[in-house]
Amino acid sequence: MDQPDPTLRPDRRPEDKLGDADRALRPQVLSEFIGQQEARANLAVFIESARMREEAMDHVLFHGPPGLGKTTLAQIMARELGVNFKMTSGPVLARAGDLAAILTNLDARDVLFIDEIHRMNRIELQPFTLVGATTRLGLLTTPLRDRFGIPTRLQFYTTQELHEIVTRGARLLDIPTEDSGALEIAKRARGTPRIAGRLLRRVVDFAVVEGGGRISKELADSSLTRLGVDLLGLDGADRRYLRLIAENYQGGPVGVETLAAALSESRDAIEDVIEPYLLQQGLIQRTPRGRMLTQKSWHHLGMQAPKGPDQSELFGG
Ligand code: ADP
Repeated sequence: MDQPDPTLRPDRRPEDKLGDADRALRPQVLSEFIGQQEARANLAVFIESARMREEAMDHVLFHGPPGLGKTTLAQIMARELGVNFKMTSGPVLARAGDLAAILTNLDARDVLFIDEIHRMNRIELQPFTLVGATTRLGLLTTPLRDRFGIPTRLQFYTTQELHEIVTRGARLLDIPTEDSGALEIAKRARGTPRIAGRLLRRVVDFAVVEGGGRISKELADSSLTRLGVDLLGLDGADRRYLRLIAENYQGGPVGVETLAAALSESRDAIEDVIEPYLLQQGLIQRTPRGRMLTQKSWHHLGMQAPKGPDQSELFGG
């Protein structure tokens, strides 16, 4: 499996929005939300304060890779504030330009969520709570960014947090799951709850049809391997990226534009979706001259790093 498998990418897909399966797994209240402890603790204070003051909560900007819970947290905020939740996105507003219509339909203190907010650059802010979400903080104009009183960066989840998320999901889906089976899914979910949820649903399919309706470690492992998800949680697109740098550029450095062209991916997809997790895992490094593989990456690919002056400083000889 060498091609990117869209069901394993963290990007939102149509079934995420419409499917009951997704809604069933979405945490509804802050206390059910696992991980992001710092963001959660701060939000709890700001929500409580807004309620006590009976004022709109300040505007919030969530930034971080796709699938980490930006939309989920915005919905939880609205619920805990006891106000309506309205949702739109930067591209929709840029195309339809109907922001005025949306704004006049808001009640006082409502939460308006704008996904991909980096795709717009002006907005008039009234006494409601705007929650913006973006994978590209750098693309927001400074004047727009400065309007948000509460900027919040979401982090990749730890294996332990994802383990809890998968366990909770399996319970909601009513599928008997061994602890080690849930852990195996967690370890291979790329630090991302959305991916954990998708992998869990696929493993459930294998369990129901071939595993006697039960998720064991063995079943999780063989299902994930059949889905093309390796032991670090990398999928076909990740491995294609790493192998390109290894085989065609001797481990780098190589510029992102070159990689985008060679992989037929957009630069945005590479920088927002593929690279953040590879960086976090220490599989690549960003240098002024481009991307480079680390020793861990060569090891993971089962390949030898070429000997050379560039590598010696990185790998300690
Ligand atoms: P984003 O808006 O950052 O792309 P979402 O909020 O849409 O991500 O979350 C993606 C999926 O992951 C949703 O199905 C959501 O239920 C699930 N999810 C996100 N964060 C958590 C969490 N902390 N615990 C459990 N499930 C989560």
